[in-house]
Amino acid sequence: MEEAFGSVQFVVIGSTGSRYTVQFHRNGTAVRAFCNCPAGRRGGLLCKHVKYAIEGSSDVLTEESDDREALLKIIAGTELEAKASSYIPPEKRERIQGCGSISELFNQYGDEIQRMGISLEYAKEEGEYPVETLSAYEFFKNGKLRRTPTATIQWRGMIEVIEESEDGIFVTVGLKPRTMCYTVMGKKKSGDWKDVQKACYAFLFNLGIN
Ligand SMILES: [Zn+2]
Repeated sequence: MEEAFGSVQFVVIGSTGSRYTVQFHRNGTAVRAFCNCPAGRRGGLLCKHVKYAIEGSSDVLTEESDDREALLKIIAGTELEAKASSYIPPEKRERIQGCGSISELFNQYGDEIQRMGISLEYAKEEGEYPVETLSAYEFFKNGKLRRTPTATIQWRGMIEVIEESEDGIFVTVGLKPRTMCYTVMGKKKSGDWKDVQKACYAFLFNLGIN
């Protein structure tokens, strides 16, 4: 974990319209978050305002500007940093809005990613189990491509409905739409999303585009 020191403060508007002050303090390798809402005062909990400050939300943060960078410095190298990867900065929102699918992500960011010396592999399978995957591979210093992707984003539209038959065999009885249909795997951030833009952003975060 990175050694750092400092504090940053945000004002977050709660669901009832109340304003809460969220503070982050970094002391060496430890980071602590405080909020003056009733839940935050009890201590030890990540109240929703702390969560909003980290993950970001255009509706609730009243001060979002240079403070965001200060926050990222304070949480660098901590578990909170991964949570911050769901946050889409205001200046990036317009561009990421064009990413309505993985192929659109590829079209919009493909050149930029490849200019960073990262190789991209895109695959799409049609049919009953549609799958769309974009994987990013970095190179070793000797120029060989790594076998393990740095990050992968995958869309799976359907999942199998499996049931156990009378003789104990598991059989596929149907298909149903998958709600959390975007999966991102990466060193910094992994997870499942319903929202394509959040998933795309998490994929880019893993590649250092944030
Ligand atoms: Zn709070």
